[in-house]
Amino acid sequence: MNPLVPQLRAIVGAAQVLTHDDPATDLSAWEQDWRKRAHGCALAVVRPASTAEVAAVVQACAAAGVSIVPQGGNTGLVVGGVPDTSGTQVLLSLTRMNTVRAIDAANLTLTVDAGCVLQHLQAAAANAGFLFPLSLAAEGSCTIGGNLATNAGGTQVLRYGNTRDLCLGLEVVTARGEVWNGLSGLRKDNTGYDLRDLFIGSEGTLGIITAATLKLYPQPAARLTAWAAVPTLQAAVDLLGQAQQRLAAGLTGFEVMGQFALGLVDRHFPQLRVPLWRDSPASAPGRPKPDAAPPGGSEPREAGSVGAPYFVLLENSDFESEAHARALFESLLETAFEQGTVSDAVVAENLTQAKALWHIRESIPLAQAEEGLNIKHDISLPVSRIPAFCDATDAALQAAIPGVRLVNFGHLGDGNLHYNVQAPEGVDGKAFLREEEEHINTLVFDAVARFDGSISAEHGVGSLKAAKLPHYKSPVALDLMRAIKAALDPQGIMNPGRVL
Ligand code: FAD
Repeated sequence: MNPLVPQLRAIVGAAQVLTHDDPATDLSAWEQDWRKRAHGCALAVVRPASTAEVAAVVQACAAAGVSIVPQGGNTGLVVGGVPDTSGTQVLLSLTRMNTVRAIDAANLTLTVDAGCVLQHLQAAAANAGFLFPLSLAAEGSCTIGGNLATNAGGTQVLRYGNTRDLCLGLEVVTARGEVWNGLSGLRKDNTGYDLRDLFIGSEGTLGIITAATLKLYPQPAARLTAWAAVPTLQAAVDLLGQAQQRLAAGLTGFEVMGQFALGLVDRHFPQLRVPLWRDSPASAPGRPKPDAAPPGGSEPREAGSVGAPYFVLLENSDFESEAHARALFESLLETAFEQGTVSDAVVAENLTQAKALWHIRESIPLAQAEEGLNIKHDISLPVSRIPAFCDATDAALQAAIPGVRLVNFGHLGDGNLHYNVQAPEGVDGKAFLREEEEHINTLVFDAVARFDGSISAEHGVGSLKAAKLPHYKSPVALDLMRAIKAALDPQGIMNPGRVL
């Protein structure tokens, strides 16, 4: 047994240090990433219950020269929170640190342990009469520590910003095992470099986030959701502009979904019944041609061609009343219909319908997984350039690999697309990834760079994109990042091989 293991057991208790020494212990929940792209092997999985225990674990690891991989809910999508295959790294799981420490109603803040599951934290805010707006499909499992470490985005960024914008303070255990208490809850503090912003988005490579002070917001009086079919991607961008003008800060969500992406939901989860999916004779403007079925898409469930090449999900949060929200929404959509920006639209009648619409949107990644392995790109672009980017890149991909299928959807309001590439119908996903992934990534990322975008909008870099960063980030920025890493983690023990 590695001599570090008994030291770790003395710190957190024997039951909270799991190793492969006991053949009956299955560590795959911590060692395998969510997408099952990597399966590592840890020296030990360590589960501290307090900041003091985290600090003592880091001190022991630093003294032994052993590297540490922090992990929250293990829902990250870039292979950043699982150990490598060496069997020498300590996997530090934060999930036992899950206490809501304090709610300060007058200061509109919530202070929580890093291992709190996002959904529990949203509920704690709601129980106190407030809104904590961070929301993403993994919210039932991901932790606020992981959200902060990846600066997660989600569906409300348009109005409330990324996780970075929702955080006022952090508590961090440094790579030397010291505790930095920066849980101030201040909205103004210009006393030098912003350490909080340095740790947010650092993916566990600079220190371990153990707690955070987060911003709370008033709950809106009503939240309304609409689903619109649009004739082109440019029309979706135009609708976004119209919605921003008309709804202003009330526009809290604006998601776009390509026809093939929704075709996968229709194929694998037909019980969800995608609205406006089949064309109706009434939907005149921009009515797609009968051959506009999803490429290699689903078998028709009923007569009629698929209704539009793109669909949009809009959310309007209103601080006056539901009637006010509905009137604004309906007038927006009527104008858009008259101008040909939307070809058809429905507004949810109640919360159940609204949840059903969001559920369809959130089922796209799962439907995609059901369809087989695929190549994911989480990219951002200036919103104005998205239609031209997609025209050029869709065509380049089709020319390179005829029949390739594009699962294009995402947070259009933030300029963030999940521009994913699925093998042509009938082609084995594993072989497709093996033979085409590198080539496709280069094609897509080069196009992103030409259109002034980013190769990682919200998922981070992890180890999946670490090798790509030097090609797409300026050498000056990379040098500064390396200098920060060397200053904060001189031994290089914090999540090595990730980001840089
Ligand atoms: P983990 O996966 O455990 O870790 C992620 C990274 O953070 C790793 O590098 C890890 O080392 C580090 N880390 C974790 N905890 C700490 C800590 N306490 N201190 C320091 N470093 C730490 N992301 C979005 O931005 N927007 C989305 O809409 C979105 N949707 C998703 C939908 C699904 C179905 C899934 C599976 C993922 C989605 N994600 C999305 C990915 C997203 O990054 C995560 O869901 C979430 O932010 C990660 O939290 P986690 O607790 O699971 O972190």
